[in-house]
Amino acid sequence: MAILTPEIDNLLLMIGDALIYFGALAMLLRARGRIGLGAFFCALGVMHSLETYLASILYVTLPFGIVTSPGSTVLFTGKLMLLLLLYIREDAVVVRQPIYGLLIGNVLLFALAFVMRQHLAVPLGADRAADFGFLNDMGGLMVWGTAVLFFDCILIILLYEHSRAWFGGHIFPRLMVSAALVLTFDQAAFFAGLHLLTGAGLAVLVGGWAAKMGAVAVYSVLATGYLMYFERPLGRRIAPRIADVFDTLTYRERYEDLLARTGCDALTGALDRHSLESYGRRAVENAAAAGRPLALLLLDIDHFKAFNDRFGHAAGDIMLKRIAAEIMTAARVSDFTYRFGGEEFVVLADGIAGDEANALAERIRRAIAALPGNEPSGRVTASIGVACCASDASGYDRLFEVADKRLYEAKAQGRNRVVGARPPNGDHPVRLVKS
Ligand code: GH3
Ligand code: MG
Ligand code: MG
Repeated sequence: MAILTPEIDNLLLMIGDALIYFGALAMLLRARGRIGLGAFFCALGVMHSLETYLASILYVTLPFGIVTSPGSTVLFTGKLMLLLLLYIREDAVVVRQPIYGLLIGNVLLFALAFVMRQHLAVPLGADRAADFGFLNDMGGLMVWGTAVLFFDCILIILLYEHSRAWFGGHIFPRLMVSAALVLTFDQAAFFAGLHLLTGAGLAVLVGGWAAKMGAVAVYSVLATGYLMYFERPLGRRIAPRIADVFDTLTYRERYEDLLARTGCDALTGALDRHSLESYGRRAVENAAAAGRPLALLLLDIDHFKAFNDRFGHAAGDIMLKRIAAEIMTAARVSDFTYRFGGEEFVVLADGIAGDEANALAERIRRAIAALPGNEPSGRVTASIGVACCASDASGYDRLFEVADKRLYEAKAQGRNRVVGARPPNGDHPVRLVKS
């Protein structure tokens, strides 16, 4: 029932739709600190289904003969603006989550509809048959729509960041121009899919574009208001270059990567001394408590100072990396290699002692001596002291002391050798002399 003209009624209804849609979702976004982002993402997903459904089934006429669907105009434009708000308040890595979710969800919908149409359904009456043909069409449109959305999102973030150069800190024109440009691109791309699937005509393309531009204006006002009055101030961010946005995109991964690498030595990738102090100490205590053997190998590179003096520190660093890699390869998968100091390493081998531990040390010594490119003139070798729990000691500190003493013996005896754990009935440590 028309109150003014049908066109003006449609326009007012659409503005009402936009207010309800944006109001509810912005409220969920604002509540993310208290209830998490899941609620916002789920609501966005439900609206996304409605959006594509409406885009393929409901078209209305607005003033100036514009024909458009509330699905594209209200819901799609609104969704893009909300995703931009999400980026502004969070970061690109968070924005990526709903985009992936929507895309995968739509592919799943498409696939399930295909499988489900194979069911032999119980007839429910002539007008209540499942319309799988429609669901298939809609699924195709959804997959296409979200694939386009993926690019839209990257584009709108890039444009938004770049627009600082045009408008400085003024949020409204930045939102407006970025959204308008992206939605112009989107309208062309989405229309191509819609045209192929539903045969929609040119009037839909032009009308849809004009309506989206109107929606951009409305949403830019709403989003600016939201950022100004409902969120904490944005703070002064230094304008990034376009290429830097990709840094923002990945900064969380880098942070996680950093966390993963915490405890590792930056040069060699072996575990660092701090890890040895915590995990290593605990490993020895646990083995001792469980009555399990454990070997501690203390390794020091021979005459490494001379190597540095001769080839330079940069070459020394490269050699240290190669040595660490060699130790880790020669050791068993279950062994832990720590960089104890400059050119000193500790290997903790749980579950072995005596001959087995000596053999492991010998394997490592040989591997280092046989490093490819290890010239006789600048030969790099290592001396290793081995101590075993519990035959030598049951505490970490004492075990380390024993290994250190044996390392010193190995050096004193001419280097490039292993001084190992005492044999069960022997008086002297085992000497495994150089090859
Ligand atoms: P040896 O152990 O056989 O008695 O002789 P050495 O020359 O190796 O003596 P020492 O262990 O006392 O010296 C260690 C040298 O290792 C000192 C330093 O030049 C070198 N070094 C320590 N840390 C690094 C590093 O991170 N990079 C490089 N390139 N050299 C290092
Ligand atoms: Mg040393
Ligand atoms: Mg040394």
